[in-house]
Amino acid sequence: MTQYRPLAIITHPQYLAHDTGGGEHPECADRLRVIHRQLGKSLLAPFISERVAMKATRQDILAYHEESYLFRLEETALRGQTYIDHRDNQICFESFEAILLSAGGGLTGIDLLEEQGPDLSFCCVRPPGHHAEKAAALGFCFINNAAVAARYWQRCHGRQKIAIIDWDAHHGNGIQDAFEDDPDVFYISIHEHPTFSFPGTGYAEEKGLGAGVGATLNIPLPPGADDALFLHVLERYVEPALDVFRPERLIVAAGFDGHVLDDMSGLSYSTELFGVIGERMSALAGKHCEGKVLSILEGGYHLDSLAAGVERYLLGLAGMRVKE
Ligand SMILES: [Zn+2]
Repeated sequence: MTQYRPLAIITHPQYLAHDTGGGEHPECADRLRVIHRQLGKSLLAPFISERVAMKATRQDILAYHEESYLFRLEETALRGQTYIDHRDNQICFESFEAILLSAGGGLTGIDLLEEQGPDLSFCCVRPPGHHAEKAAALGFCFINNAAVAARYWQRCHGRQKIAIIDWDAHHGNGIQDAFEDDPDVFYISIHEHPTFSFPGTGYAEEKGLGAGVGATLNIPLPPGADDALFLHVLERYVEPALDVFRPERLIVAAGFDGHVLDDMSGLSYSTELFGVIGERMSALAGKHCEGKVLSILEGGYHLDSLAAGVERYLLGLAGMRVKE
């Protein structure tokens, strides 16, 4: 029998209540439904424990976002408006609570990692977060889940040096904004080149500001980039940079929209690549972070590829321990 490392999946039923317009919008509740269905029938199923996400507090969120924005977001949802800042960012009355619980997923995952729970936490959350800026919703994102998580890890568990690896097809402009002048949080993003892709940031020349110069690493890939190119840049640039930075903890902003069948990007990743990425993230965490990895779901909109990609990623991450 094949054994995998225990894995916590962080979720909440309220994530399904965030209605982006009746199922027409790519960032829809079915994204989570297909993932749960796939994991339920996976070889991984016996090794998974499901945990319910806590709600992020105002203090947690204000570690990155402006208070006036948080009020505006709450008012917009509760007043019954259907979007904020741009029609991409659809919301409903229930969305505000879902957004707080999505941000709280990372915090629950961190507590588990620090309190002798499994070494691997996957936050199966929506809405996603990496485009959200301190006072603006963008690209289906409202609160920056990864940024809030990194600050929580520092504040509540005393882990100072955090690496965030973001391999969603799109640049995580909000995460970069949160930490670009901070030498203690290293933001690394591998994404489709901003000339061709939303949100138009993430050029290789963007390396951080002030004291944070060198603690931002952007690796834009050309449209059509495949598994071989992704793995090349991971080995050539990301792994050596982490050897120098030596993070105490690792956050993975896990987006699956680089899949060849996902029309939200021009990247051409296979499903199998996500398995290899899982193995590499696990190895990096083993080398630097006592094996602990917090993964937070970002994009991924082709439902079958998303479900298969998440399963492959988690199989790679949880690795094979024993073969009999
Ligand atoms: Zn994306």
